[in-house]
Amino acid sequence: MSDCIFCKIVNGEIPAAKVFENEHVVAFLDISQVTKGHTLVIPKVHKENLFELTPEMARNLFEVVPAIANALKREFEPIGLNTINNNGEQAGQSVFHYHMHLIPRYGKGDGFG
Ligand code: 5GP
Ligand code: ZN
Repeated sequence: MSDCIFCKIVNGEIPAAKVFENEHVVAFLDISQVTKGHTLVIPKVHKENLFELTPEMARNLFEVVPAIANALKREFEPIGLNTINNNGEQAGQSVFHYHMHLIPRYGKGDGFG
């Protein structure tokens, strides 16, 4: 999608701090991190949200999430991590290209929740 900000990140048209990339998936730091290391995991193919993901896309995406979470754990040493996915405006989605938030947690007062 030509006007999708995350498609532009996939295509390298706008910069992002990538933490992981393979054939199907890109993960990069959120531009407005709610905690240190807040990362978004997206499919390279544009799908609006969970309702549009195919099972194969879901498999390809979830397959790499544990490795990304462990890389964040090594890098930032959180004591926990939330995975969050907002689908639809009413659910808080603001960018309409599927993304899973990985939010490292550092305890009370870490800025999230
Ligand atoms: P949502 O509200 O749709 O669940 O999450 C969208 C996320 O995308 C927000 O956390 C927001 O900070 C992030 N975001 C929006 N635009 C950009 C961008 O251009 N680059 C990066 N890295 N993150 C973005
Ligand atoms: Zn897109």
